[in-house]
Amino acid sequence: MKTRINEIFASIQGEGPVVGYKQLFIRFCGCNLNCEYCDTEFTNGEEFTPQELTQKITSEYDLKSFHSISLTGGEPLLSVEFLKEFLPLIKGKTKIYLETNATLTNNLLEVKDYIDIISADIKLESATGLNTFDKHENFLQNCQNIETFAKIVFDEKITKEEISQCCNIAQKTGIELVLQPKMIGDKMSVTADFCNEILEKFTQKYPNCRLIPQVHKFLDVR
Ligand code: SF4
Repeated sequence: MKTRINEIFASIQGEGPVVGYKQLFIRFCGCNLNCEYCDTEFTNGEEFTPQELTQKITSEYDLKSFHSISLTGGEPLLSVEFLKEFLPLIKGKTKIYLETNATLTNNLLEVKDYIDIISADIKLESATGLNTFDKHENFLQNCQNIETFAKIVFDEKITKEEISQCCNIAQKTGIELVLQPKMIGDKMSVTADFCNEILEKFTQKYPNCRLIPQVHKFLDVR
């Protein structure tokens, strides 16, 4: 069983509640979505078996010095057959942090026991051009017993209905919401006033919300 890995690199997590921690990023190739704002290159890569990837990261990095390994993409859960072999090989070496578009629930269930933290997206149709709310709700209902937050990338097109739908999902699942303004280069695509206004609208319906911009863009790291 081989999978294609786009890149492996050490950096600082720039999104969500574990912002600022050092992570080893493993970027998987391929994605099942096609978001309008996607700027991630995840098509090219090198093939690894689970054993080869384990050998590479354990020989080249001191895994204990990292807060966690970030499985990112693309969509890492597309490589679920690979993960079923790979994750047991690195179990206990450091925490496993999954960055996912939160649409592949059945794949999550196959590897859930090996995941410590989930960064799950709730995609807004106004920002991505896709309607995936039902899939996110189903996914988040299956994240019990794992530290999970949902990241919502928004821009000036966010609607009242979307805010209500996000808060409904959060109320049903009890997860924290992280509002992330869409970036254009290293600048926010919306004003600070607009961010405050959106945070206010969310917290009126669901108080467990935070606004965290992409800090790695300010730090100028990957
Ligand atoms: S889910 Fe993420 S990687 Fe996939 S298309 Fe959307 S932004 Fe890009």
